[in-house]
Amino acid sequence: MKEERGYDSYDVATTQQSKAGGYPGWTQPPQWPDCAGRGTRMEHLLSVTATEPGGGRRLPLDDRDSRQDADATPSWRAEAEPGALGTFGHGMALGDLGGMYFFVCRTCPDTPYTHRYDC
Ligand SMILES: [Zn+2]
Repeated sequence: MKEERGYDSYDVATTQQSKAGGYPGWTQPPQWPDCAGRGTRMEHLLSVTATEPGGGRRLPLDDRDSRQDADATPSWRAEAEPGALGTFGHGMALGDLGGMYFFVCRTCPDTPYTHRYDC
């Protein structure tokens, strides 16, 4: 797909970044937890990751390289302002480029939660 369209499912479906909701941008193969009460997959609640996107469609508009033609550049090819790259993220090392992913089950009355970690 990437050769054909210039992007693949990873480019458009998710990204590794700290966020609430959405889908985790796993560094390693997904480790979705199942709820012990219902046996169903838990919902992603929050990710805290070592990296923030330095380009692509998740890059905030204000962080894009001003030399890049915004109208002619597809969002998934957006690049960050080089001088701003060092200011992205929280500066914590999680393994090397890993993340902490928190999950919740909103169906069970006690709202169980758990986490996964990868690096
Ligand atoms: Zn549950």
